[in-house]
Amino acid sequence: MNIIIFGPPGAGKGTQAERLQDEYKIKQLSTGDMLRAEVASESTLGKTLKATMDAGELVPDETIIELIGNCISEPECERGFILDGFPRTVPQAKALDEMLKHMARRIEHVIVLEVDNDILIERIKTRAAETGGARSDDNEEVLRNRLEVYEAQTAPVLPYYKDHNVLRKIDGMKPIDEVTAQIEAIFANF
Ligand code: ADP
Repeated sequence: MNIIIFGPPGAGKGTQAERLQDEYKIKQLSTGDMLRAEVASESTLGKTLKATMDAGELVPDETIIELIGNCISEPECERGFILDGFPRTVPQAKALDEMLKHMARRIEHVIVLEVDNDILIERIKTRAAETGGARSDDNEEVLRNRLEVYEAQTAPVLPYYKDHNVLRKIDGMKPIDEVTAQIEAIFANF
């Protein structure tokens, strides 16, 4: 099973993806985590990425497409994968489809976690406080830009998947267990 977990920053994608990885034995691929690991390595690429990420902007499509292309062809993705943070633009979605076509695979579900903006802002503020500001992009000003970038560049991916009949919207404002239950119901019913 190959799925995408989709939604604005702070929607809870990572939390749900981790649970699904354990329950269904499919690999979580978080582009945010991969990019943060690259930044932590202090490589030349990592330094460029950091500036982009700290501003709440998207890194170039080519960089991220190459990264994901390498991951989904790994043996650990054989049983399937959960994409968390990718695709974030329409060109990324199209590139993903091309890659999957060559592998004779496809995306079965795009799970969209719907959460209102005021709740997202509160969640990120809580996360920043709880982690002692571990993520340099978790502050209100950068978050507002991340939300704008989501609306402008990422939300346009939704009609693309609607046309492919794989879009499944769920209420991401419910407690964590209930969100998981909504996702499990989708897997059971489609
Ligand atoms: P969020 O919690 O905001 O969804 P992520 O951890 O998924 O954050 O990503 C953090 C940052 O990494 C983004 O703001 C962006 O700069 C970069 N990033 C992650 N995934 C992508 C992608 N698919 N395309 C471009 N940039 C990305």
